[in-house]
Amino acid sequence: MQIEKVSARLKDVGGIPVARLIPQSGRRTIGAWCFLDHAGPAVFGSDSDGMQVGAHPHTNLQTFTWMLQGEMWHQDSLGCKQLIRPGQVNLMTAGTGDTRGISHTEQTPEGVKHLHAVQLWIALPLNQEIEPSFEHYPQLPAWTENGADYILTTGSYGGYTAPTRQYSPLLGLDMRLKASSEKAVTLNSGWEYGILVISGSFKTNGQVFAENELAFIEPNGASSLLLSAETDCHVMLLGGEPLPHPTLIWWNFVADSRESLCLAVEDWNQGHSRFGHIDLAGTGLKRLPAPSVPAKIR
Ligand code: MN
Repeated sequence: MQIEKVSARLKDVGGIPVARLIPQSGRRTIGAWCFLDHAGPAVFGSDSDGMQVGAHPHTNLQTFTWMLQGEMWHQDSLGCKQLIRPGQVNLMTAGTGDTRGISHTEQTPEGVKHLHAVQLWIALPLNQEIEPSFEHYPQLPAWTENGADYILTTGSYGGYTAPTRQYSPLLGLDMRLKASSEKAVTLNSGWEYGILVISGSFKTNGQVFAENELAFIEPNGASSLLLSAETDCHVMLLGGEPLPHPTLIWWNFVADSRESLCLAVEDWNQGHSRFGHIDLAGTGLKRLPAPSVPAKIR
């Protein structure tokens, strides 16, 4: 089996350590999963307001937030305002095409001093007419099997199915393994998989994967993969069918062409109604301008 190790690019976003796994050169998508950040764990000092992300747009993607610790307010141009807590998923769908989009803000609530989350994007299938929407999933299938704890954030696994809406077949499974235990992970043939190490380390196929590393598994027809936890180990298994179209990403936009990205930048910066409106009064937040698409993106 071919397993590639992807190491994170580490960044500091307003005092929060963020490990970016995808996109990176050479590795752009895991099925339709096209963006993967491991944010935190962070503890905010008394002088910090935590994460305060101003109004920004998205196109042709879903934002998928898997909360591990702390809380976050989401507010969007559809009028949805939602607090997300640990063990919950927020799923915001931007809609498809050059006439649809969405915008939102994200804020740590006053008094909340922790943040630990996995932030993902899902590229939408561009041959479907998909409307913008927002969904909050407060409860997801969770079970324990032979000492391992599982929470299914999207898709089907082990006889369970998550309620999370999908536009292409995907899996997102949170797994906590005990030190020195072994677990076989079930794979669908033809899918791409990635395993993000949130904490601890595991060994598979003779390779050790540690915190903020991603094991990328090429589809090869194998139906399972054995993980050996070297320590107590918290991972997220991501999988999906490879996308049938190119996925270009610039700033907060996904598209299948440079022209669509350029139009999204222009529309957002000119206040086009496709991105709706968010009342920022009293939030202390700003509207974030979109940077121009660089020549290298095509
Ligand atoms: Mn966003």
